[in-house]
Amino acid sequence: MKNYNIAIDGPAGAGKSTIAKSIAKNLQFIYVDTGAMYRAVALYMIRQQIDPEDDIAITNACNNIDVTIAYVNGEQQVILNGENVNSLIRTEEVGKMSSAFAKHKTVRTKMVELQRNLAAKANVIMDGRDIGTVVLPNADLKVYLTASTQERARRRWNELTDKGIACDFNEIEQDIIARDTQDMNREISPLCQAEDAILVDSSAMSIEQVINVIIQLYKEKC
Ligand code: C5P
Repeated sequence: MKNYNIAIDGPAGAGKSTIAKSIAKNLQFIYVDTGAMYRAVALYMIRQQIDPEDDIAITNACNNIDVTIAYVNGEQQVILNGENVNSLIRTEEVGKMSSAFAKHKTVRTKMVELQRNLAAKANVIMDGRDIGTVVLPNADLKVYLTASTQERARRRWNELTDKGIACDFNEIEQDIIARDTQDMNREISPLCQAEDAILVDSSAMSIEQVINVIIQLYKEKC
């Protein structure tokens, strides 16, 4: 039987991973966080001190990068050349750099192949920037999840403040705007809503409301 694929795309901080993770649990799907894969690539490049504008060095480095995915208690773990890097890829620095490296063709080709292989093996809910447009153009359900920049910055500020990390709201908002601009305007696989994706603006919605809307969409399509 064909696997069921759900694609969720959207800008940074729209809540994609929290929501996709919860839906995966509810529907007993595998959750694939593709941003984490680009973050692992960025971590490798940062460690090797590779310039995000150095196309040749990036292409060469891609030959030495092996990114795989494992699951521990249902949680996705990203393995970079045999090392579990999950705890190292969530920083603002890695987030920013992943966007800078993700615009390169060799990086994207490698990640897309890996992502398609994962989707071929199981029912997946996959989130990212190009899932509905490039990675899984035939996904059974596509959602474009967004929220205003102010709201996304507010959520990020709350998250960091709750963890006791001092941060500046305006700086967070500017970083979000810069990352959106880079992701939406790159030449290859820019972030955009697939023609057949359903737009969900979560600015005034709770996490539970968004989860319920997407599960309802899934039930209607099944
Ligand atoms: O989703 P997350 O914030 O972890 O993604 C980090 C970066 O990886 C994004 O800003 C984007 O540049 C890149 N990315 C991508 N395509 C994806 C997922 C993430 O280009 N499918």
